[in-house]
Amino acid sequence: MISEKLQDAINGQIAAEMWSSNLYLSMAFYFDKEGFTGFANWMKKQSQEELDHAYQMADYVIKRGGVAKVGEVAVVPQSWTSPLHAFEVVYEHECHVTSLINGLMDLAVEEKDRPTQDFLWTFIREQVEEEATASGIVDRIKKMGDTAIFNLDQQYGARQ
Ligand code: MG
Repeated sequence: MISEKLQDAINGQIAAEMWSSNLYLSMAFYFDKEGFTGFANWMKKQSQEELDHAYQMADYVIKRGGVAKVGEVAVVPQSWTSPLHAFEVVYEHECHVTSLINGLMDLAVEEKDRPTQDFLWTFIREQVEEEATASGIVDRIKKMGDTAIFNLDQQYGARQ
């Protein structure tokens, strides 16, 4: 059976995953409004993935004889200044999520709860991917910006 302390900490993470899901859904709405339907689609998938994390954590708590709870989920931001800004926020947020999961792992180690440590490794591994994906998109957008400036430079350079 899972300790109450660990149960409560995972319940806190369930709310955090739901907040992440809402953040990405909010970004999806923002991108749709701005006409970036591809980014909007990516964000909707990302949002669903975060909600799946919440479900997985709830299932785990229940399986270990604990009580899964849906806690308070704070309101999420609703606008960003550009696609680059939004993806920079995604990257920063994923780094924050990594620190939250690491904190849960520290607690599971402290409590000598091996099944929870095993359960959390999946999320720790996944955060490596999440951070790499987000920073990869940030880099791509930055390079695209450079390409656009390069093209503009070429255009003005051709002036007779
Ligand atoms: Mg997550």
